[in-house]
Amino acid sequence: MVETSPAVSDEIRKTTCYMCACRCGISVHLKDGKVAYIEGNRDHPVNKGVLCAKGASGIMQVTAPSRLRKPLRRSGPRGSGEFEEISWEEALKTAVSWLEPIRKTAPEKLAFFTGRDQSQSFTSFWAQTFGTPNYAAHGGFCSVNMAAGGIYTIGGAFWEFGQPDWDRTKLFMLFGVAEDHDSNPIKMGLGKLKARGGKVIGVNPVRSGYNAIADEWVGITPGTDGLFILSLCHVLLRTGHIDLDYLARFTNAPCLVIDNPGSDDHGLLLKDADGKSLVIDRVTGKPAPFDQKGVRPDLGAEYDADGVSCRTVFQHLAERYLDDAYAPETVAEACGVTAGKIRAVAAELARVAFEEAFEIEQPWTDFRGETHQTMPGRPVSFHAMRGVSAHSNGFQTCRSLHVLQILLGTVEVPGGFRFKPPYPKPVTAHPTPHCKTQPDCPLDGPHLGFVRGPNDLALKDDGTPARIDKAFSWENPMSAHGLMHMVISNAHAGDPYKIDTLFLYMANMSWNSSMNTRGVMEMLTDKDENGDYVIPKIIYSDAYSSEMVAYADLILPDTTYLERHDCISLLDRPICEADAAADAIRWPVIEPDRDVRGFQSVLVDLGARLGLPGFVNEDGSAKYADYADYIVNHERRPGIGPLAGFRGNGEQAGRGEVNPAQLDRYIENGSFFVEHIPEEAAFYKPWNAAYQEWAVNLGLFDSPQPYLFEIYSEPMRRFQLAAEGHGDRQPPDRLRDQVRQAFDPLPVWYPPLSDSIADPNTYPVHALTQRPMAMYHSWGSQNAWLRQIHGRNPLYVPTRIWEENGFSEGDWAKVTSPHGEIVVPVAHMAALNENTVWTWNAIGKRKGAWALDGDAPEATKGFLLNHLIHELLPPKGDGLRWSNSDPITGQAAWFDLRVRIEHAEPPPESQPAFDPIKSPVGTGPNTVRQQVRS
Ligand code: SF4
Repeated sequence: MVETSPAVSDEIRKTTCYMCACRCGISVHLKDGKVAYIEGNRDHPVNKGVLCAKGASGIMQVTAPSRLRKPLRRSGPRGSGEFEEISWEEALKTAVSWLEPIRKTAPEKLAFFTGRDQSQSFTSFWAQTFGTPNYAAHGGFCSVNMAAGGIYTIGGAFWEFGQPDWDRTKLFMLFGVAEDHDSNPIKMGLGKLKARGGKVIGVNPVRSGYNAIADEWVGITPGTDGLFILSLCHVLLRTGHIDLDYLARFTNAPCLVIDNPGSDDHGLLLKDADGKSLVIDRVTGKPAPFDQKGVRPDLGAEYDADGVSCRTVFQHLAERYLDDAYAPETVAEACGVTAGKIRAVAAELARVAFEEAFEIEQPWTDFRGETHQTMPGRPVSFHAMRGVSAHSNGFQTCRSLHVLQILLGTVEVPGGFRFKPPYPKPVTAHPTPHCKTQPDCPLDGPHLGFVRGPNDLALKDDGTPARIDKAFSWENPMSAHGLMHMVISNAHAGDPYKIDTLFLYMANMSWNSSMNTRGVMEMLTDKDENGDYVIPKIIYSDAYSSEMVAYADLILPDTTYLERHDCISLLDRPICEADAAADAIRWPVIEPDRDVRGFQSVLVDLGARLGLPGFVNEDGSAKYADYADYIVNHERRPGIGPLAGFRGNGEQAGRGEVNPAQLDRYIENGSFFVEHIPEEAAFYKPWNAAYQEWAVNLGLFDSPQPYLFEIYSEPMRRFQLAAEGHGDRQPPDRLRDQVRQAFDPLPVWYPPLSDSIADPNTYPVHALTQRPMAMYHSWGSQNAWLRQIHGRNPLYVPTRIWEENGFSEGDWAKVTSPHGEIVVPVAHMAALNENTVWTWNAIGKRKGAWALDGDAPEATKGFLLNHLIHELLPPKGDGLRWSNSDPITGQAAWFDLRVRIEHAEPPPESQPAFDPIKSPVGTGPNTVRQQVRS
């Protein structure tokens, strides 16, 4: 008899996937202690058993030949890839010998930046206790516009902050979404929506992935999403399809704006003595605090406050967006979308939001004490990601999208967009940034935060930036995630000051994570007049032999995700769903077969060796044995630790004493913990008294935090006021106009900054990258299975440009930007904006990295667009260099790139080609074979 279902394993261990950032639950099948098979965990709240190609390929990630094996010390010149293996003791002693002196004298001389790791509440705590202001993760070059735009407007954003109400939404509109982000959850949601006959509208210059299954595709011109969105707002306002009741109750639309030109408070919101925004009560006709019991805010009120006139935010909004500047006919050409299409999309949004509105029979009480018998729903939801945010106008575009959601009344209502705990969380519930350093002392508070105005900027007493990346300076005041992409060039330039040690984790800064890749390699290897490296010391931790390894002096080899402890914490970016708070762990389901250590455990060790407060006991002994010990025993506030589940006696959620058996309980439970939100608290969370109480009990807040959505951003107006000359903290004159124009408190659209410098006639084509569904960032580069899906990346060219250049399949093109040129293979793609070319992100590799063969297609036919992009804009002729980023948040403007394209003779390999780097792990075998016998 044939055995059709042979046992594939003798043990199953449940943990959390890390082949992308979605954090699905996985069941790892082991045979004789080796990974035999990975499947989805059907009980897991994120993926409910669904596993994607990346997740299944995890087995090739933990067996990859490119894994680093032992600590390394550079033995050749920086950039050569020449290393000698050393012991962990030697490596840690070396690190301490570099870090200890700078902590004792000038902690800011350490710049510690991490990539897409999932332990930022821990790494930031470490950096804070070290005392350096120079810490951030990779958000500044990823999607800070999306995150910050959301938090400043609605108290949360997309993806890890919230999700559509997939069970009820009928129209789903997505903007600029790459398929590797929000991977399984969005695929599952799209499946549900399609099964119910719901409709998907995709807005993206490129019709791949999710856009390929959209019912309607809007092939927009890159950088014009904000204009398109505000035109939708224009049409909805003109046709009266806005939710006035929602605007009056839950947003700052009825709040009064002071109209007192020339004064210090012009354009700020009128407040009472307690600092609460005032509205006019429709019942009494008098001013009242926005949250007063029984108040009925009037959207159209005008008010004379002791001779100073005030009008509501709503009136300012209507005046702005009813203007013909946002009429479909006005914007159509710039957006590459016909006026008829814009009107049709607006009509569809209005039809579903208002004609298909419904109610859930669920009483609830709002923050003004009013009880509602039902929860009204509007089944329209949105999702957006990096495509709209990685532009120099991205922050305002993201705010515009949230205003569109708000006008339709679709945030936190049934059928709409729903927050995931710990969101919603208003700006006021976030810290402000801290930057005060003292030798041998911790920093004065958390590094990152949300500024409320110029007084919160991270500036030194002389007004210069306190941080090496110049985050929270006048160049980019709201840089909530820092600016990792500026660290190397600023450190190289000694602007605003020189550093001693650059400490990076999981960030491929000498290759695909940097603009101006060649320039960054030069900065990392540049020497001063004494023959010393300009950036004196570089420590790097990675699990794999990436391009960045060659540019470090000391390598601390990390484990793979199946060999480590991790904590996906409510203090950070947890795995919550809209109906539940949830967090998760990873644990070593297999033991490393190399001399490597989990990076977080290494930081715990370094913290103890350096005597950092929080990492040592009073007698100076190490406080934690390793990261697992920290996860269980660290308390951020009394009773609040990295993990919310199984606290105290094992039954307490959120708050509770340390439970020494906590990790065991997580493992028994499939490596996650979930706490469901009561039904009366499930929607209207920012204003729902039951939700606020539940959140306080769980430890998400220490007191209720109801708030209004901020269509009008007062923090932005405070910066604008400063640029107009008000207040003690003034921007430098060279930045005054930029701040005045960019910080409009109502969302506005302006062309990408580079458009005014790079002549559109010389560079008429937009150039983008997309992230492939099968590879998250470049993590799949060494994965034998995933490389078979994406081993090379042609430049996809739309029909018009294809025909104009007479391209044929197999041809190559020269692509030129104001910064550089590349010569690469092309391929034809019809479903593409006619002025846009694109390629897959980060497939191209440097020879010698990732244990790939010298003639691997990634190194010979693959390529990066990064060579065409500079971290600075081309000179404007004013003698200054301007950052290629959003002037509000500093988000890297990857997608502002403009190029020209022409036919080229095929070179032997993609250009530019760099010299091979020596590999500390050698080259992988031609065949990776592992057989698990049943
Ligand atoms: S979506 Fe991401 S986390 Fe989920 S299985 Fe795929 S790779 Fe893993």
